[in-house]
Amino acid sequence: MGKLIVITAPSGAGKTTIVRHLLKTFDFLGFSISATTREKRKYEKDGRDYYFMTVDEFKKMRRRRKFLEWEEVYENQFYGTLKSEVERIWEEEKHIAFDVDVKGAKDIKKSYPEETLAIFIKPPSIEELWKRLRNRKTEDEASLKKRFARSKRELKYEKKFDKVLVNDDLATALKEAEDMVLDFIKPKKSKSKSKKKLKK
Ligand code: ADP
Ligand code: 5GP
Repeated sequence: MGKLIVITAPSGAGKTTIVRHLLKTFDFLGFSISATTREKRKYEKDGRDYYFMTVDEFKKMRRRRKFLEWEEVYENQFYGTLKSEVERIWEEEKHIAFDVDVKGAKDIKKSYPEETLAIFIKPPSIEELWKRLRNRKTEDEASLKKRFARSKRELKYEKKFDKVLVNDDLATALKEAEDMVLDFIKPKKSKSKSKKKLKK
């Protein structure tokens, strides 16, 4: 059984940016592709970024107990981690990277307490978070409003996770994320040796 690296934060804090970097850097990580009922963004691909589905399809899978965890993150917008993703990635003998909301992160940690590293991505300030989300230009005004409202609550969850990573300067944050992952997955005894091996 591999490990679980859970990246969580309010919308706009930089989860996707950090998870994508980790996946590019470490080929021992596989991305848990979540199911969602929200609309696909232009740059997203079904089966790569998410499994996009209707609310009915999602609810059917939920009834069949296909989810390790799920949340109605925004009204009528469901997101969930499929048990089959965890099996798929472990069969490839990889560790798993997740990009989930704060409740999903808590649920995954609860299911796999020893094997999970849950990292909370903290924006430098709430104003900067909102600025990033707006500048990303993926959301309309209604969606931005929902995300802003939720982010205030989500920022209070910071202390519930194993690590807090402040995403101010991006290059620094990416390096810190790499170090946190390596430190968690390497065997505890031969610290420097295993780090070198993994970096090759
Ligand atoms: P999330 O997945 O948490 O919603 P994203 O990774 O999409 O967040 O990041 C939100 C926006 O902020 C994106 O446009 C991204 O390019 C930008 N961004 C991420 N990290 C930083 C940073 N450290 N400084 C400035 N902009 C950033
Ligand atoms: P977005 O619509 O911006 O892609 O994601 C909105 C929120 O849903 C983010 O906080 C994201 O991490 C979260 N999310 C994505 N996939 C899942 C999932 O499988 N489970 C849960 N609980 N949240 C998810």
